[in-house]
Amino acid sequence: MSGQSEKEARVALADAYRRVVDLGLTELSSGNLSMRLGDGMLISPAGADRDNISEDRLVLVDRDGRWENGLKPSSEWQLHAQVYRSNPRTSAVVHTHSDNCVAVACHCRDLPPFHYLVGVFGGDNVPCVPYSTFGSDTLAKDVADALETHYACLMANHGMTACGPTLDIAISLAHRLEILCRQYLLAHRMGEPRHLSSEDIAAFKERAGPTGYGR
Ligand SMILES: [Zn+2]
Repeated sequence: MSGQSEKEARVALADAYRRVVDLGLTELSSGNLSMRLGDGMLISPAGADRDNISEDRLVLVDRDGRWENGLKPSSEWQLHAQVYRSNPRTSAVVHTHSDNCVAVACHCRDLPPFHYLVGVFGGDNVPCVPYSTFGSDTLAKDVADALETHYACLMANHGMTACGPTLDIAISLAHRLEILCRQYLLAHRMGEPRHLSSEDIAAFKERAGPTGYGR
């Protein structure tokens, strides 16, 4: 993604935003997407939605957190910026309020290893970071800390954030987490489902290899 021109990046990010809506992960203006661009990032604007998103409405935020006059970046821009600062391998960040992620996150609990694909996110679970006000430094730091060791986290009483080396992978992980949360809630109707062991998850990762089966 590093060799991408700003024009190409704008086309890719606007298209990615529409894809996240079409997957049912974002409704109204509740989600936001970004990609690393040079020393800064390109991010969806405050108030973005499926109808008004376009290449020229994306906001370029520099490494010092400044942007040109005009549209404001998403109110969660600091969360995105903090993830890029903390994790040099991350090139794309997706934040959504997708239904099933919100449902699990509202219980302020990690998604446990009830299914082997939970291992896709890098650990034995998908952590849920504590609640803080949207747009706050505390929320940005908590999410960035969680994403240093995992490709996604839940956000208590709020939603989820996923990251990856490309927009496609970050979106796929956001979609995967929504599916797994849906399946967890379904399984939970019969009580807490059986959890796999750390050894089970490690064996899955070994078999899947570094390319990350399931993404
Ligand atoms: Zn949010």
